[in-house]
Amino acid sequence: MNQETLLKLQKYASLVVKVGVNVQPKQLLVINSPVDCAPFTRLLVEEGYKAGAKNVMVRWSDDINNKTYYTYVEEEEIKAFPDYLLHQFEYIVREKAAVISISAPTPGLLKDVNPKKMQLSSIVMNEKVGFYRKHMMGNGSQWCVIAYPTIAWAVKVFPNLEETEAFNTLLDKILEASRVRNNNDPVREWEEHIHILAKHNRLLNEHQFESLHFKNALGTDLTVHLVENHIWGGGGERSQNDVMFAPNIPTEETFTMPHKHKVNGRVVSTKPLNYQGKLIEDFTLDFVDGKVVGYDAKSEKEALKSLLELDEGSSRLGEVALISYDSPISKSNILFFNTLFDENASCHLALGNAYTMNVVGGHGMSDAELEAIGYNKSIAHVDFMFGSRDMEVVGTKKDGTKVILFQNGNFVI
Ligand code: ZN
Ligand code: ZN
Repeated sequence: MNQETLLKLQKYASLVVKVGVNVQPKQLLVINSPVDCAPFTRLLVEEGYKAGAKNVMVRWSDDINNKTYYTYVEEEEIKAFPDYLLHQFEYIVREKAAVISISAPTPGLLKDVNPKKMQLSSIVMNEKVGFYRKHMMGNGSQWCVIAYPTIAWAVKVFPNLEETEAFNTLLDKILEASRVRNNNDPVREWEEHIHILAKHNRLLNEHQFESLHFKNALGTDLTVHLVENHIWGGGGERSQNDVMFAPNIPTEETFTMPHKHKVNGRVVSTKPLNYQGKLIEDFTLDFVDGKVVGYDAKSEKEALKSLLELDEGSSRLGEVALISYDSPISKSNILFFNTLFDENASCHLALGNAYTMNVVGGHGMSDAELEAIGYNKSIAHVDFMFGSRDMEVVGTKKDGTKVILFQNGNFVI
């Protein structure tokens, strides 16, 4: 690694620790990292201690071992979730640790794995450590998802480049999208960026639209009702222990909570969806009263079916997000095969679980109260992209007033 790259990576690590999770003095920092990302993870560990973390715990993972596991493991073993893992998650929640997760998936790696085993694993994980998911999705403590290339990922994104070149190019694109350059102060730039996102959130929160209507030439014609007292979020967030943090680096989105029973019409995807290692392409979903009642896909329709049939909530929406078509990631015109990037290129929806932070008082509501307001619950939360160059979005208020929010794919408010 040359000196220039090392300096940029140190800036990136510092950005993630200071702005991403904003680790506090004497706080525990947890890093979920693929083994291939070890050189960068070592920089994160050091930045973590420098920022005052009392300890930095790294939870290593390996995609190849993961695939081997699913190939050979018996279902009985998946069900027998070991205590030591449970205790690890309990410890992280009890400590209110800050959690950094490095996203570097290998697209298509798990495509031949029996989907039933992965589904069973999701169900068991939810039963045993659902409390961890609830803690994190409710911003119980700070968390941040970032990316770092692996060769396996890079050659999927740039199939015409040789391995090292593909890796370096993907690293450049990740740093560019994360606003880390040779000659800038990314921490300061992020503060400004978060400020702009906060402005969109504030305007949308003031409007309190009853519904949004999406329409484009591809065939999307969808009305999404929002829950009452919804909150638009995105960019910077405040954890329950009152610390500002940025859950995604990069991020361009402003998002809120759809009503689980009030979505009607058709949505047409504009980017492939990488789900459990399978690439679902050119798909449509038809909604009636919030539920997908019809669907089609040019490829991997079975994977889409398995997502929609995973549980009651996986065929309903948990998130609607607005992103200008002219965002930097969209302009790069690269398909990253990684939701963290691709979702920031385009307006998106998520099938599955909603975020309690997207409604006033949501963190303190019981399951029954959440159900009553139209909050969607699922073990899945899968984003898919449907924004386009010609997307029109119109918001309708309770009194019937209409406000144009998007024209030709971009925010006009
Ligand atoms: Zn989103
Ligand atoms: Zn999402």
